[in-house]
Amino acid sequence: MDVTAGAARAVSGVPRQAEGPVDPRNPPVDPPVDGAVERRRLEEAYALTGLAWWEWETETGRLSWSEGMRRLAGLDHLERPPTIDDWAPLLDPVDQARSAELEHAALTEGTPYRHVFRIRTPAGELRHLQSWTGPLRDGSGRVVGLRGATLDVSERESAQRALAASEEHFRVVFEGAPHGMAMIWLREPDVGRLLRANDAFARLIGYERSDQLAGMTLSDWTPDSERAVSDARLRAMVGGRSPGSAYAREYLRRDGTTVHAWVTTAVVRGEDGAPEFAIAHCIDDTARRRHELELERLAHTDTLTGLANRVVVDKALSHDRDPGRPSVSGLLLLDLDRFKVINDSQGHPVGDALLVQVARRLRRAVAPQHTVARLGGDEFVVVVHGDDRCVPTAVAERLLHALREPFDLPGGERVTVTTSVGVALPLERADGPATEDLLTRADVALYAAKDVGRNRVAVYDDGMREANERKLRTEAHLRAALREDRLEVHLQPVVDLASGRTVSAEALVRVHDDTGAPLPAGDVVGVAEDTGLVVPLDLAVLHEVARLLAVDESRRAEGAEPLLPDRVAVNVSARTIEDPDFVEHVRRTLARAAVPAGRLSVELTETSLLHDSGTVEQAVEALVGLGVSVGLDDFGTGYSALAYLPRFPLSFLKIDMSFVRRLGTTRRSDAVVAAIVELAHAHELTVVAEGVETAEQAAALRAMGCESGQGWLFGRPAPVRAAGPAPWGQDATGS
Ligand code: C2E
Ligand code: MG
Ligand code: MG
Repeated sequence: MDVTAGAARAVSGVPRQAEGPVDPRNPPVDPPVDGAVERRRLEEAYALTGLAWWEWETETGRLSWSEGMRRLAGLDHLERPPTIDDWAPLLDPVDQARSAELEHAALTEGTPYRHVFRIRTPAGELRHLQSWTGPLRDGSGRVVGLRGATLDVSERESAQRALAASEEHFRVVFEGAPHGMAMIWLREPDVGRLLRANDAFARLIGYERSDQLAGMTLSDWTPDSERAVSDARLRAMVGGRSPGSAYAREYLRRDGTTVHAWVTTAVVRGEDGAPEFAIAHCIDDTARRRHELELERLAHTDTLTGLANRVVVDKALSHDRDPGRPSVSGLLLLDLDRFKVINDSQGHPVGDALLVQVARRLRRAVAPQHTVARLGGDEFVVVVHGDDRCVPTAVAERLLHALREPFDLPGGERVTVTTSVGVALPLERADGPATEDLLTRADVALYAAKDVGRNRVAVYDDGMREANERKLRTEAHLRAALREDRLEVHLQPVVDLASGRTVSAEALVRVHDDTGAPLPAGDVVGVAEDTGLVVPLDLAVLHEVARLLAVDESRRAEGAEPLLPDRVAVNVSARTIEDPDFVEHVRRTLARAAVPAGRLSVELTETSLLHDSGTVEQAVEALVGLGVSVGLDDFGTGYSALAYLPRFPLSFLKIDMSFVRRLGTTRRSDAVVAAIVELAHAHELTVVAEGVETAEQAAALRAMGCESGQGWLFGRPAPVRAAGPAPWGQDATGS
């Protein structure tokens, strides 16, 4: 029922429904019939459908409503039949105005119509009603009013409105989102077609507005490099195997460039339950991704040389290495021989420049599939990839060769360096070659290469491992001896070749193994130098010598037989003489022991003198200033950089035993020794010959003018007898 008493009588519903004139051949409701019985029956039938019926005679104003109509209008409380005046105030004026024309047509031309309109019941409830309205005719067929059937459609309407509202919300969010949004069709035949996108998505792939994307598909913005992954992802969604996912990807832009994006997709299923479309949310990730890539690059790069770093090497050797890479066939560990000398003497900037050039040469000498890295300092690594077992050693030889050419350093300096290379090959095992410990084994091989004279390639074998283990055992014994103050010192006499009198003695360190056998002192000192233990070792020997000298001093004071010759020499390694506290340490040790400095001498090697930082020179001068004499040990084995000799106030020179051993074999070897003696004398140094084992050697040396000799002929290194307790107490080793 929809009619008002006023002039504008029509009432209209909400225009959402298809509404307006109804097909007259097929009216939705039968008109009510006359007669109380029929009327009741009809009313019962109507009640079953939820429909209410009504009639309104416009000329008489008579209104007849079914019970249902009263309920719909909320007028069921009325005691009397409702009138148009009860009904009219309930109608929504806007809806009413909207249907005025339809009502007019029904009244004048008898055209039925359907519409939805709103009422507010007397109790204040808003209802949406739908009416099917047609003409009411008298017996002659004249239109005398309207009649119809009405249904409460409030529920359906509010559902529809809610749907419309949520669609609107979605549209606002989708279109207005600051991030790209796109909907991709997931059904055949055009899987991957773009259904809808927003402007942000259009801009992401290089367009201005989303309407420019009409007709595009997923592959249009997928770069070739991403195609396989993208297709797999799409197939998983189409096949219902993926509810959506989040991933980083690249987009191909309109101008051919690419952008990185972070994408989150969700699959929306259709009414049949099968995936229908995917909705993707895409954030432009380029800035973050670039930052990430840069961080990744930095984390894998050695900053000085730009080569790979340790992380890359570890990864190449680990089991989870890049499956696309051929397997590891060898590992080369390179170390520049005597880099420290260059670094210390020329300064760090020069050292760095050298490392950069070395890195460049290595990279150029090695095929691109191999990994070249710097581990730190002057240590470089090449991981050789490939199956051929011969290749790693060949690569190593090539590298050695490439580094042999001189380097031009800043400041016009030209230096030549040699390199030692340790090679380790993976062990063949049932489950493939094992790469673990490759670095350790290459390190052992490198040490072996250095041990046998540097400037060469050494391939790891088990013998080296044994040597390495021996070193580790030596280190353990040395540490224990230092910790427990068990270091022993043996003395070997140095004899005046003319008179045969013992003029001095050399203190030689002795560390014993578990069986009590002495370990070779050369090994002990080598290990100490490698492990940073050489300074404590030298100081411990110094303290022991000072203690012995103190005992000897007091014996001499008492007129007892001297225990020691006038002078005792200690060996001091390069690291120790460079220690800025060393000289002060010597002074204090001698002072506490009340030993005259003239009773001590120090043997340095040529390598120590080459450390041209000025510290060594100062230290030597300071020692000499104290009254300690300083000499050069093992002359002829090192650099023999004679130019250095006058810069140091040395008092003696020891000819290495390798020269002494060759005495009498050839004229030339005799001439070499004679020349060394002459040279030493020219520098006002006395000469000690080491390793004199035979009387012939002693006679030859004497004839050449060599002052002293040391060797088995005169006495082997031996512990000092009856050395007695330290006279200056427990504090002797402290400073
Ligand atoms: P070095 O200073 O040249 O000491 C001489 C080495 O020659 C000693 O070996 C000695 O035992 C050995 N020798 C002496 N006469 C003969 C001989 O007639 N024939 C043969 N075949 N050998 C002879 P050692 O004691 O094994 O010491 C080896 C090296 O260890 C020493 O060479 C020295 O460079 C180093 N060293 C020993 N003690 C110390 C120490 O306290 N501090 C430092 N920094 N180095 C030490
Ligand atoms: Mg010596
Ligand atoms: Mg020597």
